[in-house]
Amino acid sequence: MISRKKALLWNIREIHGKKLVECNVCSRNCTIGPGMRGFCRNRVNIDGELYVEYFGVLSAVESRPIEIKPFFHYWPGSTALTFSGWGCSFRCPWCQNYHLSQRDPNPLLGVYLQPSELVEKAVKIGDEGICGSFNEPTIHLEYILEAAEEARKRGLYSTIVTNGYMSRRALEKLLDAGVDGYSIDIKGCPETYEKILAANPDTVFRNAKYVLDNEGHVEMVFLVVTKANDTWDCIEWVLSRHIELLGPETPLHVNRYYPANRWSEPPTRIDLLLQIAERAREIGIEYVYVGNVMDPSLESTKCPKCGKMLIIRHLYSIVEYRLERDKKCPRCGYRIPIRGNYIEKKYHRVV
Ligand code: SF4
Repeated sequence: MISRKKALLWNIREIHGKKLVECNVCSRNCTIGPGMRGFCRNRVNIDGELYVEYFGVLSAVESRPIEIKPFFHYWPGSTALTFSGWGCSFRCPWCQNYHLSQRDPNPLLGVYLQPSELVEKAVKIGDEGICGSFNEPTIHLEYILEAAEEARKRGLYSTIVTNGYMSRRALEKLLDAGVDGYSIDIKGCPETYEKILAANPDTVFRNAKYVLDNEGHVEMVFLVVTKANDTWDCIEWVLSRHIELLGPETPLHVNRYYPANRWSEPPTRIDLLLQIAERAREIGIEYVYVGNVMDPSLESTKCPKCGKMLIIRHLYSIVEYRLERDKKCPRCGYRIPIRGNYIEKKYHRVV
């Protein structure tokens, strides 16, 4: 059965005698007229009230390694039942998942699962957690909150892969419900956000810091897109905000872009990615990874103090895990920030 659900976080605005609704789930704060949907295509004004359309209709459900999100310092080796809907609060022209993120919700193509059924499925499969990903999960706030509450009851973790553009109130609700892992995209400097996304990166860093200040886990992902965010001014802005606001221990993934959707510039130069990673380490970021280049040495965790290779990864799987039980480097005793336990899985099941 396809359901419509009353939305959270909205208020009424009267403009020229018309009853409009303002959604406060993300920092776009869309004003939505009667019968209209917000920017993310999921929230509709029906008779002056805001509803989520197609609650529980998912575009994908799939068990995936946590490393692929990417999370390299969160329940290493585990798998998360990963789910998505349609739509997004951004319109990135290079989006790899544009077939989901830039579409209206489509009940004819969806899988229907209540949040409790999703969690039950994760338990049956043997996943350690759940993850909202593929499209922007926070636009499905109501679903994620229910799923996270259920996951907590069943002893599973809850994570999201997000653009970090949610409102403070939405973030508070996510943290309260037990969503404690945040893989957050930083899409460039203010110029990138203003020119291409009509948004503001300060909101993203502000939210990432809020998660850390409230005992959540954050990993930042900087997809370096040719001719969008790859000038050194832009790169320096991203790196300096990272170290100032998030500190040396927050991992940074510097990822290679490939042409997709409406962006056809060539893939990011690998030498540029390596230079960015070097500069990030130089200014004090301790855990810097270069992704989407298929090089295990760039995906692995080294001890920032003595340089020992501690977690060897290849293609987003753990090949060798050498940390002590207390998450210390076996050579020099330096404590590596890892949330959760290492889960050694012999194989990975896809459903
Ligand atoms: S969640 Fe959607 S409707 Fe709400 S403010 Fe963001 S883009 Fe607009």
